[in-house]
Amino acid sequence: MKLFQEQEIKIYNSLSGQKETFKSIIEGYVGMYVCGPTVYSNVHLGNVRTFMSFDTIYRYLKHLGYKVRYVRNITDAGHLENDADVGEDRIAKKARLEEIEPMEVVQRYTVDFHNILNTFNFLPPSIEPTATGHIIEQIELIKTILENGFAYEVNGSVYFDVHKFDKTNNYGVLSKRKLEDLIHNTRELDGQSDKKNPQDFALWKKAEPQHIMRWPSPWSDGFPGWHLECTAMSTKYLGDHFDIHGGGMDLKFPHHECEIAQNEAAKGKTPVNFWMHANMLIMNGKKMAKSTGNFILPTEIFTGDNKHITKSFSPSVARFFMLQAHYRSILDFTNNGLLASEKGFNRLMDAVKELDSLQLAETTSFNVLEWKQKCYDAMNDDFNSPILIANLFEAVKYINQIKEGNATISAKDFEVFKSTIHTFVFDVLGLKDAAKKVDSGTNKLSGAVELLIKLRQEARANKDFALSDKIRDELAEIGIQLKDGKEGTSFSTT
Ligand SMILES: [Zn+2]
Repeated sequence: MKLFQEQEIKIYNSLSGQKETFKSIIEGYVGMYVCGPTVYSNVHLGNVRTFMSFDTIYRYLKHLGYKVRYVRNITDAGHLENDADVGEDRIAKKARLEEIEPMEVVQRYTVDFHNILNTFNFLPPSIEPTATGHIIEQIELIKTILENGFAYEVNGSVYFDVHKFDKTNNYGVLSKRKLEDLIHNTRELDGQSDKKNPQDFALWKKAEPQHIMRWPSPWSDGFPGWHLECTAMSTKYLGDHFDIHGGGMDLKFPHHECEIAQNEAAKGKTPVNFWMHANMLIMNGKKMAKSTGNFILPTEIFTGDNKHITKSFSPSVARFFMLQAHYRSILDFTNNGLLASEKGFNRLMDAVKELDSLQLAETTSFNVLEWKQKCYDAMNDDFNSPILIANLFEAVKYINQIKEGNATISAKDFEVFKSTIHTFVFDVLGLKDAAKKVDSGTNKLSGAVELLIKLRQEARANKDFALSDKIRDELAEIGIQLKDGKEGTSFSTT
């Protein structure tokens, strides 16, 4: 018997607005599509959080024994600056500003994206298709939507006819919007558009002469609409109807709404059983934005090189911090939150290390199986990682009680206890014991640098600033940066 036959998962479905019992379309198999990044800049921490939520979901489904095909795309064309099909292509704009080829932009930021995700210990998806690799599929899809009468061509561009679609189907079913309200709330864009109605969206756009990213099509040399990419790529690899579609909350409308409309218009059926949306990440209670300075790059968390944090944090601590919030809650990224998570993470890892030195007894003084099921119950309840973590701290308490002689565990129960802890800490939450990776040479180096930091503090206390600066500067010369913060001085190496 597979684990998924024993463990019943409930998933909050954005489509129904409720938690529903998850049953995969084909028993034992799960098809999951998650909207990937538009690779025109360094991956945003908010996106990392979204992908981390789905990485953890992927890990749990795999742990339960499902054969999961996880498709996460790369958007390398067609994503314009503005949702109303206006503005430059984000990648083409970056290429113009940096005077490089669009595909150089794509390559640079795809590599950055993979590096960051690897650092956070993400599992790679089963398939990572690109929009430019699926132009033919997108053209075929447009032809079908045109044949079915839900799109129209104007001056070489093809638009989806939202008004016509809404007569027979329900546009707004996911975001709970009504077309008449959308009409009421849309301001006309000074007649610049060829669209019949402002709510219509582009399936194919004719490229202006200066637009460098272009492909031939029956309608014009142009490029596909952003929403269309995901319909083409998801259905190509997962079929016209699949289990889970995920993404950030901001993609619910219009992106995912348009995906539903396209699929219904082309294939006559709704594409997905479960729509899942990860909530946003804010920093210090405010929206994270480069323009306001309330911003941190993922790599800056590891180097500590950002004014919003007082020290560097390991990727596993950052991952642990993010998973301490449920994926549907807003996560507030703060220095204090990270410091608290680091303490918790170290406590958990210390306890995991203690496991093998525990004295075993004849009997067990607590209910291991009940505790184990509570771990599963947490994840079965819409992947509630904070509750799972609370249960893991329950295990930390037992470990400490056994160590102090205040609780006992039998050899048989110990095997279950240990393997459950390992499964959830390493396989499901995807945490890594940072200390394991640090070799003894690095430990010695840390000790030596800590000593220099102490000497520097003494120098400063004695107002010997020449010496304190000398220590800082000479360490910097050999690639060790000191960072002074409220919590004392930390260091990072380059
Ligand atoms: Zn998408």
